[in-house]
Amino acid sequence: MAEHLLVGVASSPGLVSGRLWRPEPEAASQTAGPASAGDDEARLRRAIASAGQALAALLDRLDGDEAEVVGMQIAFLEDDELARPAFEAIAAGQPADEAWTAAMDAEIAAYQASDDEYFRARAVDFQDIRDRVLAILLGDAGGVLEVPDQAILLAAELRPSEFLSARWGAGAGIALAQGSPTSHVAMLARGRGLPMVVGLGDEALALRGDALLDGAAGTLVVEPDEHRLATAKARLASETAGRAEAAAFAARPALSRDGVRVAVQATIADPAELDGLDPAHFDGIGLVRTELFLDRPERLMDEEGQLAAYSRILAWAGGRPVTVRTLDAGGDKPIAGYTPAHEANPFLGMRGIRLSLRHPDVFRVQLRALARAAATGPLKVMLPMVTLPGEVAAARALLEAEIAALAASGVAHGRPALGIMVEVPAVAITPERFDADFYSIGSNDLVQYTCAISREEAASAQLGSAADPSVLALIARVTAHGRQVGREVSLCGDAGGDPVMVPALLAAGLRSLSVQPGLAGAVKAVIAGLDLAASGEPGAPSS
Ligand code: PEP
Ligand code: MG
Repeated sequence: MAEHLLVGVASSPGLVSGRLWRPEPEAASQTAGPASAGDDEARLRRAIASAGQALAALLDRLDGDEAEVVGMQIAFLEDDELARPAFEAIAAGQPADEAWTAAMDAEIAAYQASDDEYFRARAVDFQDIRDRVLAILLGDAGGVLEVPDQAILLAAELRPSEFLSARWGAGAGIALAQGSPTSHVAMLARGRGLPMVVGLGDEALALRGDALLDGAAGTLVVEPDEHRLATAKARLASETAGRAEAAAFAARPALSRDGVRVAVQATIADPAELDGLDPAHFDGIGLVRTELFLDRPERLMDEEGQLAAYSRILAWAGGRPVTVRTLDAGGDKPIAGYTPAHEANPFLGMRGIRLSLRHPDVFRVQLRALARAAATGPLKVMLPMVTLPGEVAAARALLEAEIAALAASGVAHGRPALGIMVEVPAVAITPERFDADFYSIGSNDLVQYTCAISREEAASAQLGSAADPSVLALIARVTAHGRQVGREVSLCGDAGGDPVMVPALLAAGLRSLSVQPGLAGAVKAVIAGLDLAASGEPGAPSS
């Protein structure tokens, strides 16, 4: 069979020579292929039952009005009539998620149209139920992906939660028909060293057989010829040698050739990622993306669970600083029952701190857990998606209120530093307006918002990067401000882990980067080849 070349977008470097692997419909996301009506009916029944169980567990911890609301939602879920139109639609051939959404939207619209204020107010409960069940349906992949050794996972899309729960065989890779190189999944893939190509187009989904995935070139070659395979083998050998060299750098502090120390911290999305990592290889944790493990309403509300997670990270860090970001839900990271269901433009809508301030009940739980964890180590709290100075002031007031309440009830706690992500140009242009104890540049969103490109779409994501002079100028502006007022400025976006970008970022004045753990060695190796003592002054050229 003649070889077949598909060109996509490079998302995580590395080569895989292996077999294309399509997950079974039961073990895959809803993008993996059509399921039968019988499957869909069973999936919806399971999702409704587990939403009910989650609400019942939540109910155990509540009392008063809160218990009444949750009790009512459980009763609605147990009412067979509620899901009847959805099951009818499934029998007529509609997929479970669409059938459920349509049935619930009709119910919600009927409540919203009521003349009675009491009934109109119930619409929110149905929205909540709709989103809970939908989240389970979409996440209910029927199991964890088990990607075999040397296999190239071929799918339309992959969600961060699917990536994190999957078991990746040795030498596996990822080929996606859709996706973007700046998505969270692409970031996670780079962090784990899993080669990945996105944007291959839907025609890729029909392919089968042996293939060569080139994550640096952004190509997928099916049934590659002898010559191509031989070249790939030689490259694989030299990449393995390069990885061994990077691994040697990973164990040492990052020092430039002329002796300037750069902090290289780790970025994580789940405390479990720390298993097997040596804390001595990192200058602490520069970003914990809490929304990726607090991704269910009941987990959001669980103070003890959060405290245990944050304390575990601090214990691992052994006295090194740990920066925990408060929930950055919204955009590409929805949380059912928490983020708005139908925003026209979620990345410009309710995200990050905007949502936290709208849900003080949820935000206070997180701040309290963070203040309690701060008693066990040097914890820093970071606010995402800050746009207005008032947002920082409001968050600080809530944090202080929680600290005062903990003190009043004699609960051990600390006062964590409160810093902000710089990912909205409004902040990068005038950082002096923001009363932050530290700043961390979120280059992923800063690029998106400065260059007006969608980080989720392969085609537009290519039009912007942290190398854009406008983005580097904004970064230099923030580092200059940090130096002036003596406050730390670091960068926790994905650009910090890109060896090609590192020289420009350091030239823009940065001396602290937070990167996916697997990239620390490569970043330190680049730093070791640079002379930095003369660069990084305000206004220094950054290209
Ligand atoms: C960023 O925007 O650079 C960032 C680190 O945040 P996230 O990628 O989680 O949006
Ligand atoms: Mg961001």
